[in-house]
Amino acid sequence: SSLGAVRQIEDKVLVSIRIRPTDQSLAWDVSGSVDPAIKLKPEYTRNGTAPTQEFRFDNIFNPETISKSVYVKAAKNHVRAAMEGYNAVVFAYGQTASGKTHTLTGTDEQPGIIPRAMRDVLGYIKSTPSREFLLRCSYLEIYNETIHDLLSSSGTPVGLQALSGGMGNQIIIHPLREEVVTSLKSVREVIQRGEANRRTASTDWNERSSRSHSIFRLVIESRERATNPEEEERKANAVPPTPGGSRLQARGGRSVRTSVLSLIDLAGSEKATSDKERTREGKYINTSLLTLGSVIGTLAENHAKGKADHVPYRNSKLTRLLQPSLSGNARISVICTLNPDPSAVVESTSTLLFAQRVK
Ligand code: ADP
Ligand code: MG
Repeated sequence: SSLGAVRQIEDKVLVSIRIRPTDQSLAWDVSGSVDPAIKLKPEYTRNGTAPTQEFRFDNIFNPETISKSVYVKAAKNHVRAAMEGYNAVVFAYGQTASGKTHTLTGTDEQPGIIPRAMRDVLGYIKSTPSREFLLRCSYLEIYNETIHDLLSSSGTPVGLQALSGGMGNQIIIHPLREEVVTSLKSVREVIQRGEANRRTASTDWNERSSRSHSIFRLVIESRERATNPEEEERKANAVPPTPGGSRLQARGGRSVRTSVLSLIDLAGSEKATSDKERTREGKYINTSLLTLGSVIGTLAENHAKGKADHVPYRNSKLTRLLQPSLSGNARISVICTLNPDPSAVVESTSTLLFAQRVK
């Protein structure tokens, strides 16, 4: 599937809600297709703590919405933008078991955003013969405010280093393993390796996966193809290769365009429910999701109102790591996943409030 013509992305942040299927009765009513709204059913507002207001978003996906539609409406434009040189980020936010991993990774029958994005990326390269591309892929996890490289066998902790000046802030992630990928198969292998390392690193896989952020990161480099390949090749061979290899180099006035596509499965947004959770991990998660909300919320507001309010990137590892991918011309899509069960109304409400905050 090629990316085809896509509509202009106007807003800084696209916010979607995806409601998970359930065998219970749905606590929420969805209305409208152009300007969709979600509202708690009256019978669930009675306890006085539940909201009576309607929440409006760019997209509200019903339990029946297939993964393909979610991809087309909430990620495809962002993937396209990344191929055109913009940084782009897609987040899945929601309480544990609400459908974040289903949305990003999916299954063989219902592939999620990551495999669909990669298919589009490779399709875009095929249909753009005027440019040559290099794709480098990495896979990271943030747990307890420590960043781990899931592609290095021991899940090595990695550091961030800020380089400021010149073209603004640049964040160096070091050491970081990046794999050059050329096919869907090689991407799948990279992800499987990362998942395996993630499981090995944790004594309790379920606990760990709900308490950590996982970041699939694709660096896209491209430059115009040489008009005279033989001449170009001769010149290139005269120059010794640079250490570190596998990067495109500017040649004959053809500058290299670099952008990053980040696809992020966030930690579960639920409030701490036990003493254990109220300790370290719980605190870190709440702080980093809270910071994410205020960073994206501020960016959206600055964009909409032409303001330049301070953006608190430094308050969490996640936002610090993502700073270059969120600022400037970057495109952001937030998909909030919702468990529509009556028993989950409190958490679902807090998810909707987060979604409203970042719009
Ligand atoms: P999370 O990553 O938020 O903890 P999961 O993606 O693991 O949640 O979803 C929990 C369960 O619900 C999984 O078994 C998943 O396959 C299923 N599920 C979630 N969303 C959907 C959906 N839209 N359609 C079908 N199954 C879903
Ligand atoms: Mg998950």
